[in-house]
Amino acid sequence: MRQVYMDNAATTALNKEVLEAMTPYFTEIYGNPSSLHTPGQLAHKAVANARQQVAKALGAEDAEREIIFTGGGSEADNMVLLGIAQRYQKKGKHIITTNVEHHAVLYTCQRLEKMGYEVTYLPVDEYGRITAQQVADAIRPDTILVSVMFGNNEVGTLMPIPEIGAVCREKGVFFHTDAVQAVGHVHINVKEMNIDMLSLSAHKFHGPKGVGALYVRKGIVIPALITGGAQEHNKRAGTENVPGIVGLGKAIELACGSIDENAPRMTRLRDKLITRIPELIPEVKLNGHPTERLPGNVNFSIKYIEGESILLMLDLNGIAASSGSACTSGSLDPSHVLLAMGLPHEIAHGSLRLTLGDDTTEEDVDYVLEVLPAIVKRLRAMSPLYHE
Ligand SMILES: *Cc1c(COP(=O)(O)O)cnc(C)c1O
Repeated sequence: MRQVYMDNAATTALNKEVLEAMTPYFTEIYGNPSSLHTPGQLAHKAVANARQQVAKALGAEDAEREIIFTGGGSEADNMVLLGIAQRYQKKGKHIITTNVEHHAVLYTCQRLEKMGYEVTYLPVDEYGRITAQQVADAIRPDTILVSVMFGNNEVGTLMPIPEIGAVCREKGVFFHTDAVQAVGHVHINVKEMNIDMLSLSAHKFHGPKGVGALYVRKGIVIPALITGGAQEHNKRAGTENVPGIVGLGKAIELACGSIDENAPRMTRLRDKLITRIPELIPEVKLNGHPTERLPGNVNFSIKYIEGESILLMLDLNGIAASSGSACTSGSLDPSHVLLAMGLPHEIAHGSLRLTLGDDTTEEDVDYVLEVLPAIVKRLRAMSPLYHE
């Protein structure tokens, strides 16, 4: 049976070239980057090189001071929110975000609320977008941080990041973006977009899991979340994950270096699914913005049936998909993103997310288009809610 992986928003396959770049750092070059001997210095050099690769991919000025390696995207998000809250609390205790953020941001904001901070959750429109004007209107003298995701992990909607960056810069408020879904898939330049802080994660662009990075513009002070050793300029204690960091560097270089080829190709495959699915299946609704969306994201509400039952049937046919974020599957709660976009509960349950990667082929897409309509038909025939 054909195996089709369409859950690249949850994680991606490791690129072979990335694995090759990492391998020597598991075997021959295993020194601790803090050690002064030659094996240590070789590891140190590899980490420094990866830092340059990340800085270059983001358009950051000073790799050494502006890039901090972390244990992934969630850690980077936590570090920004908790760090800025702690360091700048004398200026104020107000934070602005949106109601469609990843849980790494949302749950951390809820923790901050319990600690006495005030958080404004800007409501999104039916496509999952906020406007820069909403941000401008919400900023107060005591606002210390605006955190708005670059591209949504469930519905793929792209936020107007350069416009929000301009507003924050003009008002003198720090601007963080969780760009975990966007890095390696859309062009990002932190300088041109007025981004002060940015979170990324290697396993979302064909790098290894458990390693990420945080860009922090020079001049902004973020205290360490994890204390101990002096690694990462005292910003993140713990012996560096050298193979992971090397893999992140290689993956970001490869992904960002091939956006001009991959993004148009993925967008075409995405749009094939977006056009064909409603032609083949009645009563479906595209979730997210029709054009302002990540190149690899397709999300449909399929009325009258549960997302989970579609997933099981797809899996039996060799297709790996998702009904929302990996964190919420397993629970039967409807997606907070779909609810925030105004979908009623019963429709928010029946969503199907297909996310493409750099390795997705036209044949993969055609196979899904062949299998999915029959599955939906069968499930609807059993659904008490559906009448043809
Ligand atoms: C995957 C993801 C994260 C979490 O990244 P991890 O590296 O898995 O911790 C955060 N934000 C968004 C938007 C994501 O898609």
